[in-house]
Parts: sequence; C-alpha cells; structure tokens
Amino acid sequence: MKRFKLLCFEITIRKIKTPFERKVREIVCSFLGHSRICHYCFGEITCARCGEILQDGFAGLSDTTGLVFVEHDCSICRENYKGLSWKDKVLCPHPFKKKKD
Ligand SMILES: [Zn+2]
Ligand SMILES: [Zn+2]
Repeated sequence: MKRFKLLCFEITIRKIKTPFERKVREIVCSFLGHSRICHYCFGEITCARCGEILQDGFAGLSDTTGLVFVEHDCSICRENYKGLSWKDKVLCPHPFKKKKD
C-alpha cells in the first residue's frame, strides 16, 4: 500500500519539473483547494495539480462525483469537465487528448 501511494504521487510529480514549480502548485491548491482534475491510480485519486491523495479507493468510499480523470476521456469525465471552473484548470494538465484532424 505504501508503495502504491508513492507510485501515484510520482506519476504526478514526475511531470512537474522543478521543486519551485511543485511549491507553487502546493500554494495554489492551498488557496483554491484541490483541483477536480485528478489522476486515478491503483484505486487512489490524486490531485492533478499537486499530487496529493484526495481519496483512498481501498477504503471503498470513493466519491467521484464531479471529478475529471486525466486521460480517462469517458462521457462522464467529459460531462464533468464542462462543470469545472478556472480554479480547477489553473496549472492542471488538460485531461483529454486533443483530437487529431
Ligand atoms: Zn492539489
Ligand atoms: Zn471517466
């Protein structure tokens, strides 16, 4: 379980280049709250902005209402994406792959 947690955290953090950027993201989350754009990994839901674990799916109580999972790209995620505000999007990756023409 500990290892999984580390892995999930690293998936998000790997995309963040510098410790400074990471700090900025943490500060943004502390002001605006965590983003509803999330990563889903081994049953855990992590904030796509700062990498913090928001929900531990192993507890069996995941509430994914309104959440958008990066690269999940299903109809529910797309629907939820419409409900996001700038607060969710700032410094977050775009959750869906852009369609190739
Ligand atoms: Zn966050
Ligand atoms: Zn989805």
